[in-house]
Amino acid sequence: MKAREQRSMSDVERAAADAVIDLDADENACPACLETIPGGSARCPGCGLRLG
Ligand SMILES: [Zn+2]
Repeated sequence: MKAREQRSMSDVERAAADAVIDLDADENACPACLETIPGGSARCPGCGLRLG
């Protein structure tokens, strides 16, 4: 894989991670079960995954 492609993929992954776990957002999607997690919640209500 070319270095340029790696950097591009890394940027996308970082952006996705920021979107999935953003405790300042109104709500998040659990990365494990995709349950909607209300903003400020420390755990996913669906599977109990700890977010912070
Ligand atoms: Zn979950």
